[in-house]
Amino acid sequence: MQRNYEIVDRIERTRNLDRESLELLLTTEDGALREYLAAKARETAQRIYGNCVYIRGLIEFTNYCKNDCYYCGIRRSNGCAERYRLSEEEILNCCKNGYELGFRTFVLQGGEDGFYTDERICEMVSEIKRRYPDCAVTLSIGERERKSYEAFFKAGADRYLLRHETADEAHYKKLHPEEMSFQHRMQCLAELKEIGYQTGCGFMVGSPYQTFDTLYEDLQFIRELQPEMVGIGPFIPQKDTPFGKMQAGTMEQTLRLLSIIRLLHPSVLLPATTALGTIHPKGRELGILAGANVVMPNLSPVAVREKYKLYDNKICTGDEAAECRYCMERRMESIGYQVAVNRGDFKNN
Ligand code: SAH
Repeated sequence: MQRNYEIVDRIERTRNLDRESLELLLTTEDGALREYLAAKARETAQRIYGNCVYIRGLIEFTNYCKNDCYYCGIRRSNGCAERYRLSEEEILNCCKNGYELGFRTFVLQGGEDGFYTDERICEMVSEIKRRYPDCAVTLSIGERERKSYEAFFKAGADRYLLRHETADEAHYKKLHPEEMSFQHRMQCLAELKEIGYQTGCGFMVGSPYQTFDTLYEDLQFIRELQPEMVGIGPFIPQKDTPFGKMQAGTMEQTLRLLSIIRLLHPSVLLPATTALGTIHPKGRELGILAGANVVMPNLSPVAVREKYKLYDNKICTGDEAAECRYCMERRMESIGYQVAVNRGDFKNN
C-alpha cells in the first residue's frame, strides 16, 4: 500500500512515470490512492495558479469539415449533420458579448473548412485583436501548412489547439481514414511550437482501440513536446458515425489522467472539458478538483449550438452565453475556486 503512494510521489518528483505505474494508477480500486493522486495534482495546480480557474470563450464557427474522422459527428460523410458557418460579423458579435461577460480569451474552433481561407482567418484574427487588444485569440481549426500558421501568428493569434488524438501511429490509423496522416499532424504540432504559439495537444480518453500502451505513448509525447495546453476529455459516441455504437470513455479514467498530466507537467493549462461535463453532471467540477485549471464555456449563438455536435447529448446547447458564464462561476465557487477575468497565459515554472 505504502509503495503505491510512493508511485504518486515519484511522478511528482521525477515528472515521469513508467508503463506499469500508469496501469496501476488507472486500474486501482483503492479509493485512498485515487484521492491521494487527485489531491497531489490539485495542490500542484494551486501552487502555480492559486484557486483561479481560467475561462475561455468557445466560438464554434463552422461545422463543415473536409475530414472523415471515424469518431467525429461533423465528419464530411455524416449526411445527418446540418451544416452552418458563422459570418465574420456573427463571430465578432460573439466576441463582443463575451468581452462584456469578462472573457479575455476567444477560442475559434471549427471543422477543416476550406471556405475560411488563410486570408479570411487572418482578417478575422486581426480584427478581433484590433477591437480587443487585451484579449488572447486561440485557433483550433485543424491541420494547415506552416506558412498558414505563420500568417495567423503574424495576424495576432496567440495560441493554437490541435489535439494529437493518439501518439501511436497504428492507433491513429484505426481512428482515421487512410488519407489522413499521423506524420503530418505531428509535424503541425512541431511547427506550431516553433512559430511561437502557446500550443495545445491532447487526446480522447477511452477512444476505440486505446490501450494502456497507447496512453503511455500519449504521456511520453506530452513530456517531449512540453505543450502549454493539453486537452483531454472522454470519447463519447455520436450515433451517425462509424463509432456510433462503441463504448464511451469514463469519467473516472479521465480524472485520473488529468491528475497524472498535472503531475508530469505542473504548469500546463489543462481544461475540464465540455465532454467531461457531458458524461457526468459534476464532471467539470471534479475535473478541477483533479488538477484541471481551465473551463471553456460556449459563446456560440444558441441557434447553431445544437449543430456543432461532435458527440451526442452535448450539454448547454440551449443556454445563452451569459447563462453559461454565470453558471460556470457558480459551479467553480461551489468548490472554492474563482473564475479569473484575465488572459490566463501559461506560467513557466
Ligand atoms: N477540427 C479541429 C477541431 C475540432 S474538434 C481539429 O482537427 O483540431 C475538437 C476535438 O473534439 C477533437 O480534437 C477531438 O479530440 C474531439 N472529439 C471529436 N469527436 C469526439 C467524440 N465523439 N467524443 C469526444 N470528443 C470528440
